[in-house]
Amino acid sequence: MTMELQLETNAHITWCPGCTNAQLLVAFREALTELVLGGTVAKENVVAVAGIGCHGKITDYLQMNTYTSLHGRVVPALEGIKLGNPALTVIGFEGDGDAYAEGIAHLIHAARRNNDINLFVHNNMVFALTASQATPTSPKGFKGRSSAPEGNVEEPLDPLLLMLAAGATFVARTYVGDIARTKEVMKAAIAHKGFSFVDIIQPCITFLDTRDSYRSRITWVEAPAADFPGALRLMAPTGDTVPCGVFYQVQRPTLDEMLS
Ligand code: SF4
Repeated sequence: MTMELQLETNAHITWCPGCTNAQLLVAFREALTELVLGGTVAKENVVAVAGIGCHGKITDYLQMNTYTSLHGRVVPALEGIKLGNPALTVIGFEGDGDAYAEGIAHLIHAARRNNDINLFVHNNMVFALTASQATPTSPKGFKGRSSAPEGNVEEPLDPLLLMLAAGATFVARTYVGDIARTKEVMKAAIAHKGFSFVDIIQPCITFLDTRDSYRSRITWVEAPAADFPGALRLMAPTGDTVPCGVFYQVQRPTLDEMLS
């Protein structure tokens, strides 16, 4: 593809060498480039917001309008920006600890309101920046700095089911190792009018390297469902597969439409 859009910065990348956040960054740069060059969005009307965590460095590596929020507060920042100027396209990057622990109440209410914002969660299932405490999506048995000696005793949260129940109008999951498909899911999320939620499996190669576990288990759905039973069928694994793609997409009035 033609990379005519300048999105790179001069900032030195400080993720661990080989960190899969770099794949997510590439997927997003390509997605935004295609959307801008295709006329779907204008670069000056796009704002990216990040929280605190390894993921949060992404805004250092994007030459565009960006804002760094507080821990767990990416969603309210997105909502404030969108309410202040509904013409903007707002895109949030948030870690799983950020989104599903500190920020989970914001997440639920943004989905319920169908605010026209986009949230990409870098789900590496661990608080990586602070060196391996368990998050709500850490697997049972995970041994991190905050877990019992025998490992994490808690059952992990399923963010897709939560977002479906909360009212998100676009619910998807991708695997960052497939940059091309991740780019397509990002493009579809940004083009969707309403609350777009994408959980991105983004293995932390330093504290919880799940790449080998996921590589052979990822499957992709062809098209989203427009009803709950259909979405649940698409999300359901067959054996130990991990389905990815857009599971659910519907249209309903957005918050800014209801307020206007
Ligand atoms: Fe990436 Fe993990 Fe290193 Fe953070 S700690 S930069 S998520 S590999």
